[in-house]
Amino acid sequence: MKIHLSQFAGFCDGVRRAYEMIMALDISKAKKPIYILGSLAHNADVVREINKKGIFKIDLEDFLQSKKGEIGTIIITAHGSGPEIFEIAKEKNIKVIDTTCPKVIKVQRLAKVFSDRNYSIILVGDKGHKEVEGINAWGKGKSRIVSSEADLEKLDFSKDKKIVILSQTTQSEEFFEKAGNFVKNKFPKAEIISTICHTTHDRQQEVSKFAKNNDVVIVIGSRESANSTRLFEIAKEKNSKTYFIENAIQLKNQWFFEMEKVLVTAGASTPSWVIEDVVDKLKEM
Ligand code: SF4
Repeated sequence: MKIHLSQFAGFCDGVRRAYEMIMALDISKAKKPIYILGSLAHNADVVREINKKGIFKIDLEDFLQSKKGEIGTIIITAHGSGPEIFEIAKEKNIKVIDTTCPKVIKVQRLAKVFSDRNYSIILVGDKGHKEVEGINAWGKGKSRIVSSEADLEKLDFSKDKKIVILSQTTQSEEFFEKAGNFVKNKFPKAEIISTICHTTHDRQQEVSKFAKNNDVVIVIGSRESANSTRLFEIAKEKNSKTYFIENAIQLKNQWFFEMEKVLVTAGASTPSWVIEDVVDKLKEM
């Protein structure tokens, strides 16, 4: 069986950068206790490595409820946070380590600039997603978040309203284009700025192009990860023998019976050692 490993599989630059920043942290000099706001990556191995450094996850609610002195340092993940988190940290004398991906910072800044100029922001993204919530907060919480065609249908603005369309970095190009065309049709003066990250785009394009040329497609990632789930959906559409796994243990022999070619890809939160484990197990099979 031939194994084709995606050239874009695994950690994207933003998550890798954040993970390396956390791993390089000199714990002996850091203000303790140290918490990370939410998950850096939806992957148990990554969480374990971070925990081993003495850094533990804290949910937004617990962070907000914490009393002065209960948190020494807070780490902002690659997905970013709204400005209020930085303000609260300052008030409570909490040191902030900001690992927000520079590409996410760019969308946050755009949201702020357009909101300050009194634009209505249409943010194409997944409602409730951490990155989307953060971008929305930078735009003063007034963005209209569009996740589906039904959301598009509900859009309504006064004729003289200035409108800009931005996107979550991990959105699908296809839906963003559809949303852009829809909005332009209804509001011709709307400005469209694609803030989709090319890492995501390249990974999606690759799987879309090669999934049908392989007998089986393996997508490694967590179902909690938006970009891994989207990758799986794209592959499944092209090849019904697509399987979504979190690690090598979940591989099943029967998936590969009489199969000759397998494509392996992975979402942005999957570390390289998990991908290597899967490839090794496939070679054994
Ligand atoms: S997907 Fe792109 S924008 Fe998002 S964290 Fe990764 S590199 Fe940054």
